[in-house]
This record gives sequence, C-alpha cells and structure tokens, in this order.
Amino acid sequence: MNNALTIALSKGRIFEETLPLLAAAGIKPIDDPETSRKLILDTNQADVKLVIIRAADVPTYVGYGAADVGVAGKDVLLEHGGEGLYEPLDLKIARCRLMVAGPEGKHNGQGRLRIATKYVNSTRRFYADRQEQVEIIKLYGSMELAPLVGLADRIVDVVDTGNTLKANGLMPLEHIADISSRLVVNKASMKMKHARITEFVERLKTAVGAA
Ligand code: AMP
Repeated sequence: MNNALTIALSKGRIFEETLPLLAAAGIKPIDDPETSRKLILDTNQADVKLVIIRAADVPTYVGYGAADVGVAGKDVLLEHGGEGLYEPLDLKIARCRLMVAGPEGKHNGQGRLRIATKYVNSTRRFYADRQEQVEIIKLYGSMELAPLVGLADRIVDVVDTGNTLKANGLMPLEHIADISSRLVVNKASMKMKHARITEFVERLKTAVGAA
C-alpha cells in the first residue's frame, strides 16, 4: 500500500514556523526552500516530500489530493471555502487578524463604500452579514495603497503589528477574524493513510501544546 506523505507548504513565515513542528514529528527537509529552486523537497524520511507552493494554492493542492496534508493560514481557508479538506489542528503560528482598515476620519456617507482587498469572499460575507451594501475591488497585493490614491475608501487585509497600516496613514477599524495557520488534510488521504496521518497529527498536536 502507498503510505507516502506529501506535505504542502508555502515559503517564508509559514515554512519557518512549521519547521520546528515537523522536526517534532521526526521530519527534517534536506534542501532549504529559500536557496533551492526545487519545488519538491526531499526530507530525512524517504517517503515524505514537501511541495513548496504559493500560500493561496495550498488548499487547492490538498483539496485535490496532490498533497496529502498542508499548512494554510485561516485567511486563505476562509477565502477558499475548505472543500475536500479536514482542518484537524490549529498550529497557532503566523498569527494575525483579518481587519477592515481605512484612513482616520469617517467616510463622507455618499454612495456605497468601496473596499479594496484580495479577500473578496470574506469581505462579501462580512458586509452581507451586516446588511451593508459595499463595492468590492479585487487586488492582489499592496492593499494599503488603494485608499491613498483614491481607489477605495477602505481595505480588508491581515494585520499583525499594525505598523504597515500606520506607515501609510491608515488605522484598523473593524475586526473580522483571528487568523493562525491550520493543518489541513485531504479527505481521501485521511481514509487511505489513516494510521500514518493520525500519528502525524498527534505528534504535531503535542508539539503545538508544548510550544
Ligand atoms: P504589520 O505587522 O501589521 O505591519 O504586517 C506586516 C505585513 O505583513 C502586512 O502587509 C500584513 O498584511 C502582512 N502580514 C502580517 N501578518 C501576516 C500573516 N500572519 N500572514 C500573512 N501576512 C501577514
């Protein structure tokens, strides 16, 4: 039976903060994704591979079973919808908040608020729940710029220290959700490789508890 494990991770903060948790589960990558151009990294265990992909692609790879498990921010999972995925564990890393932010002072009240964000689904849900009509403008990055150049009245983005907002004359206005990285598992893999994945999850859970 194929009992190999493919783990989807994104570079940067999630990779760095997941490494000690993987080490606690006995998994150590052989290559460094920051210097290697390889997209599939070998580990100290011959049948465990890491695939290095964009953060927003992790739920897609795991959802389709191209990776058995993955680590994704709750912001990404809220946006994706979580189809085909179990989310068995909060890894409590890469914590931040999904917020509405804008310039100090109020909107002048004329017409609908324009909100620039890459989190279109989460933003639509947030304002729909409040029965507020807004216009959502999809961006792929540097959301903080939009209010400065008159593209939008507000932004929805993840905020950690708030320094980036402050440096651009913006302030957090409303809290949408607390964010942290989650372990996600493909539903079919969970069935087919149950013992292996359950043991992996348990070892991560212990490491998260001890952190
Ligand atoms: P801040 O510390 O609020 O200035 O955040 C610095 C930048 O990193 C901002 O552009 C945030 O959108 C982004 N950011 C902060 N925390 C996270 C996180 N956990 N995951 C992804 N992006 C983040």
